[in-house]
This record gives sequence, C-alpha cells and structure tokens, in this order.
Amino acid sequence: MPPAAPAIARSRTTPAAPAARGSLAGRCAVVLHAHPDDEAIFTAATVHRLARAGARVVLVTATAGELGPVLRPLHAGETLADRRRVELERACARLGVARLVLLGHRDSGMAGWSSNAHPDALAAADVPTVARRLAEICVAESAETLVHYDPGGIYGHPDHVAVHRIGVAAAALAGLTTYEATVDSADRRGRHLVDLAAGGGTVGWDTSGIATVVDADAVDLAAKRAAMAAHASQVPREAVRRSGFAAAYGREWYRRDGVPGLLDEVASVAVR
Ligand SMILES: [Zn+2]
Repeated sequence: MPPAAPAIARSRTTPAAPAARGSLAGRCAVVLHAHPDDEAIFTAATVHRLARAGARVVLVTATAGELGPVLRPLHAGETLADRRRVELERACARLGVARLVLLGHRDSGMAGWSSNAHPDALAAADVPTVARRLAEICVAESAETLVHYDPGGIYGHPDHVAVHRIGVAAAALAGLTTYEATVDSADRRGRHLVDLAAGGGTVGWDTSGIATVVDADAVDLAAKRAAMAAHASQVPREAVRRSGFAAAYGREWYRRDGVPGLLDEVASVAVR
C-alpha cells in the first residue's frame, strides 16, 4: 500500500543533502535501529551499498544497549554504554553513514526482564512521541525511505518490537516508503547471530512476505565484517571469522510497505 498523505509537511526551505557523487546522489534513507550493533548485523551491506552509490544514510539508534553482554573488559570508569557508543561510531565510519542520531532511550533488556518497565526503557516509551521525533528527522533530512524492523522485531526483543511500532507510526507521519529489516526464515545458509539471540524462538519472516533482498558483493561484505568486528563488546570473535561469514551474513532481507524506494535501487531481488 502506498503511504498515506504525510501529516508532517515538508519544508521548502529544508537544505538539500550535501552533494555526493554516484547514481543515488541527493537521495536519503533513514535507518532506525534498537541497539548499537544491530545496524552492522542486519543492514550493514545495504547501508554500505547505498553510501557507495552516493545516497545519504542517516542512522538513528534508539538506545545505548546498556544491558548487553560485556565480552571485552571495560576501562576503569568506562560504562558499557560508553564503549558501545565508540564501537557504533567506528562502525558508522566503516559503513559510510553520513550522520548518527542517538535517541537516548534505555535498553529494555530481554522479554520478561523487570527492566522492560523502567521509565526510560524504549519498550515503555510513548510510541507517538518517539515517532514524531523520528518523522521530524526524516523530514529535515528530506528522506524518502525509512528502514525499521518486521512486526516481530526480527526475533522478539522488546526494543526491536518497539522499533517496528515507532517506524510504522513515523512513516505514516512523514509519508515514507518503509523497509522492514528481517531475516528469511527459510533462506538460511549459515549460523547467524540472531539464532543465538533468539534462543530457539521465532526468527524472521517467511520468504513469501519478503519484497527486497540485498546481496553483499566483496566490498560490502568486507565493510560489514569490519562493522560487526567494531562491536567487539557484543559480537563474539567466531562470528566475524572470514570462514563462513559470507554464507551467514552476505544477504539482507526486507519487507516493504509503499512504492519501491531507495533499497530497491541496490537490491538483487526486488518485487515491484
Ligand atoms: Zn538489538
């Protein structure tokens, strides 16, 4: 379905994105993620491909991921949120992200944790309020496309489900084509971190509901591997070994709502 008429008007005075070279120069996608590392695990090849083609990619990360694991020791006085922000900035640099926006919500933790109800938790946030903030970013950036998550949040994490709800509401406000990042539940060629995170629960979406597939080439794949490796506090070393990486992470999947948009320009499979 095409997006409804936008409720937030686009300003004629909004400055255009900085000039970039490439076939997608002057076009912008906003990519919403729940935690630092999700951008690398689920959408890095797509982001890198868009940036290579000249598109402006704005990454919006909703939480600091402060309840994630700590796989590498922290420095004295350093919090996990501090570390994850540094890791996120490194990943953004590797992927060609033009602007990083941190929404500043708190990580809600896994489903059922008491932290789900913390007043600052993303899962407890007022969806219309956060959606309006996101829509305003999209409009200010003259974005045409918003990326968020499938209705199940890819694997059910409360913050990922919140990202879906916020993304749907923001897209309606700003009148955007949306792509919902997912994984194909039937097209799995290697062990993906999402399987570990899901702990045997439902993961991704059925092939028939997936509209757009982006296959990483060697350049995108190297960038994705480097971006995932940048999140060393979260991503185990085994996951970023060269062997098996392409099979597990070389493909990215999206559901689409709205007319074909920016991601279909870089897709290997696009249903039009
Ligand atoms: Zn996450």
